Amino acid sequence: MTDSPAPATVTGPDEADWAAAEAAVRALAADARVLLVCHVNPDGDALGSMLGFGLGLRRLGVRHLQATFPGPPEVPDPFRWLPGLDLLVPSDEAYREPDLVVCFDAASESRLGELADRLGGPGRALVLDHHGSNTRFGDVQLVDPAAAATSVVAEELLARLDVPLDAEIAACLYVALTTDTGSFRFEATTPAVHRLAARLLATGIRPGDISRQVFDTRPFGAVRLFGEVLGRARLEPTAAAGHGLVWTYATQDDLARHDQRPYVLEALIDSVRCTAEADVACVLKQVGPTEWAVSMRSKGAVDVSRVAVALGGGGHRFAAGFTGAGDADAVVGRIRAQLDGALLPA
Ligand code: 5GP
Ligand code: MN
Repeated sequence: MTDSPAPATVTGPDEADWAAAEAAVRALAADARVLLVCHVNPDGDALGSMLGFGLGLRRLGVRHLQATFPGPPEVPDPFRWLPGLDLLVPSDEAYREPDLVVCFDAASESRLGELADRLGGPGRALVLDHHGSNTRFGDVQLVDPAAAATSVVAEELLARLDVPLDAEIAACLYVALTTDTGSFRFEATTPAVHRLAARLLATGIRPGDISRQVFDTRPFGAVRLFGEVLGRARLEPTAAAGHGLVWTYATQDDLARHDQRPYVLEALIDSVRCTAEADVACVLKQVGPTEWAVSMRSKGAVDVSRVAVALGGGGHRFAAGFTGAGDADAVVGRIRAQLDGALLPA
């Protein structure tokens, strides 16, 4: 599905937005049904912000509470220990007409797949996100492109709702924060991010254990699969007006031969983007016979969210993605053609 282009400038939520969001939660009747949704192929921020907020709502006394995401109801192994997983239901069991929908980390309705229709019902739809490319769907938007993760927005709303952080909520929000900041390495890692991390750690959660489970544990088959996929990476030094492009692809057959689940491929981009000779890195992950989920990263010369939006996706300036059709070379060809037009001022 294609996302509409992002508005030219996007500012964060103002006081009225925060007040409207807080009021939407505080107005819930005792028997209200609340549905939490996050984007397809949920990552640490999608799951962590959704489950952390869900646990907060549970502390507030919300009894009819579900969390879900589109597609197969499969939680990637690195997140299978998260507190609040008991809130999850398969998308086809999610409330049809919830009194409140809260949406996490989705830049557009297309990222909600078969759950997008839940936003058009009689209940209110609250959107928590941090993508500059957010298309402004839903009734109340808490969209802060300056936030390092959606969990930053979720934590602020919990604080306004007077929900104290406990270790379970904190574990979820910490996973979200560390995944989206690359373990506090990326540009969005502000003093406020570290202050939030400090508040979360003060609940007693163990960052070493969490990082090991989320980032540093994968099956041996995935290690061998990475070897193969990295071995076929290609470097194009002249692409992006000489800033360079590095890319590789992983097929469904690669996954089958190594007996691996698709989620293991999410970490691949980190091994590709360290290439010194390229500003832009891409990983194409086959999701159908001629369909690829594409991850793109930039080190600062190129706005990859512009490339992604032009090709039907979205994301952030330095991390974005889309789904492309055709063979891998054709998809990379379309990316290459967009790079020159997405150069950032030096
Ligand atoms: P990743 O490469 O880690 O999957 O995604 C990087 C960023 O791009 C994330 O913020 C993610 O939400 C966004 N993104 C990835 N794929 C798509 C897509 O198909 N559509 C949109 N709108 N955003 C995407
Ligand atoms: Mn995010």
